[in-house]
Amino acid sequence: TRNLAKLMRDRLPRNVQHLLETAGAIGRELDMRVYVAGGFVRDLLLGKPNNDVDLVAEGRGNDIGSRLAHRLAEVLGGRVREHPKFLTCVVIYEEDGKECRVDVATARLEYYEHPAALPTVEASSIKMDLVRRDFSMNALAVRLDSTPFGQLVDFFGGQRDLRDGVIRVLHTLSFVEDPTRCLRAVRFAQRYGFRIAQASEKLIKNALSLKLFERLSPARLFHEFAIICEEPTATECLFMLDSLGILAAIHPLLQMNPARRTFLRRLGEIFSWYRMLYFEEVAEGWIVFFLGMCNNFNFRDASACYTALGLPPQRKQEIMQGRETMRTAATGLTRWLRTREDGGEARVSALDALLEPVSVEGLLALMAQGGEDDPQRRVMSRYITQWRREKADITGKDLIALGLRPGPQFGEILRAVRRAKLDGEVGASSEQAELAVRLSEQTDGRAGQKGPGCV
Ligand code: ATP
Repeated sequence: TRNLAKLMRDRLPRNVQHLLETAGAIGRELDMRVYVAGGFVRDLLLGKPNNDVDLVAEGRGNDIGSRLAHRLAEVLGGRVREHPKFLTCVVIYEEDGKECRVDVATARLEYYEHPAALPTVEASSIKMDLVRRDFSMNALAVRLDSTPFGQLVDFFGGQRDLRDGVIRVLHTLSFVEDPTRCLRAVRFAQRYGFRIAQASEKLIKNALSLKLFERLSPARLFHEFAIICEEPTATECLFMLDSLGILAAIHPLLQMNPARRTFLRRLGEIFSWYRMLYFEEVAEGWIVFFLGMCNNFNFRDASACYTALGLPPQRKQEIMQGRETMRTAATGLTRWLRTREDGGEARVSALDALLEPVSVEGLLALMAQGGEDDPQRRVMSRYITQWRREKADITGKDLIALGLRPGPQFGEILRAVRRAKLDGEVGASSEQAELAVRLSEQTDGRAGQKGPGCV
């Protein structure tokens, strides 16, 4: 019996407040009860930003959510995508030139035909809608159509558990019905610094002993892992999954040892560092940590673990290929570092050629193979932040201005200029232009062309 209207006014952006008020007004107009539910309410109470609005409509008929969605789309000037089998819809609309989405569902009851299956759904009350959810802190809703606006609906002690920092399932079969909740529990525990209630932890162990992960669809398992790997606390999540025995239940080889823990900790730090650089090339969390979890595994073991982690075949092939590319590059990198240490000729352009085929995630993993003060780590850091991004200071336009004849050789000339720049053989752009002209003359000479290199 708490009213959150003031909290919403104080904490929510204006456009989100407006959306919630609009949904409430439509509820009154269509004579249905409308709630915002789930993670949005959790984060509102925790004071964390979350604009992911999940609306739930309660009233008569399976199509009540659909009716709310269509009216909302009409008011917002958007469109509706329906998923009638699940009694859910998405309203898609534009706001300030940006596409926005709101999930709208009919309050529904879910039941499971067998453990780890996808649930069957049926229209129901808000209470049944909340009881099917994973944890008490996610089983909260706020009523939007009533006066006063903003009444909190908390049947299962969600507020209390949020205050105490506890993750608690709502019934004893929760993890049996849906083992992905074990992964969600870990993700939320690490994200908010919460603990899993003792009784709930016992239920996780119970679900593990029933070998339910083996029955889970690979796609759902992978989906949960991919979300975990995007969390800033991904490394801690993996450690917790290990200590609860979840990784070993997925595949015995995934169990941690001190070396792997050290590697994953370093990799996690490097991944956060890379994200803070805000480079346009995005590193995907799941690739980074999947490489990390199977670092030093042979081909067969890595392949078995990736299958167990639910990787779709196409992605598995990609990551297995990536590992091979990384392995070849790692051998070359060791040789290059040794040459440099021995005072031999270790050109940056040669390093660049070695590392060029490696994905950004692979580069981060190669960087993590070196300890804090290790030369490999320093070189990889410089390569990622500087050398890899280096471009020639002259462009095709400059070559044309220099009187060179445009053609496919332009690309090769500019690449050669870039290599010379990386190796410190040319300085300012004037020197790079001179080199380009020399290279063009050589190219023409090689091709045995009669015409002059310059127009
Ligand atoms: P995040 O903040 O990471 O987006 P979330 O809980 O807000 O997490 P979703 O994963 O989209 O967002 O889930 C929305 C709501 O749906 C949850 O708050 C929870 O109430 C319910 N839910 C999601 N997954 C499950 C599940 N596996 N079992 C039961 N309820 C779930």
